[in-house]
Amino acid sequence: MAGKEKGKKEKKKVEEITFYNKDIFEVPEDGSPPFIKAWKCNQCGRLWFPRTKYCTNPECWSEDLVPVPLSRIGKIYTCIDIYIGAPGFKTPYVWGYVDLPEGIRVPTTFAGEVKSFEIGDEVEVIAAPIRKNNSGEDIISWKFKKVS
Ligand SMILES: [Zn+2]
Repeated sequence: MAGKEKGKKEKKKVEEITFYNKDIFEVPEDGSPPFIKAWKCNQCGRLWFPRTKYCTNPECWSEDLVPVPLSRIGKIYTCIDIYIGAPGFKTPYVWGYVDLPEGIRVPTTFAGEVKSFEIGDEVEVIAAPIRKNNSGEDIISWKFKKVS
């Protein structure tokens, strides 16, 4: 058992994330609302999500990509109530995809009760704990809640 204890301590030295993911999600420090980011190619103008190192348009391949904020409100493309969840996720929860006006489809969990979301519902991005890391701390990321 001593070996197991040691293993646990070593694991804690690994830096656990508490935020996911600065490349594609931003919570402004001035208190303004959080938003998801796409990466815009300055050569051909296409948007990419999540971030890529270079534009994957086969007629472009530019490495000149810049982050752009996406709309905070979109529509549910699909969703499902989850009762047996991914590790670290408190069940039950609602999972699915949201379509944003820029043509970006974002995977997400939803803030709210199961059986309360439907395809086509208008939803808004928020910052919220999505699950615990290995140290038991919250990992903050985006979720979508119903527009009230
Ligand atoms: Zn491009």
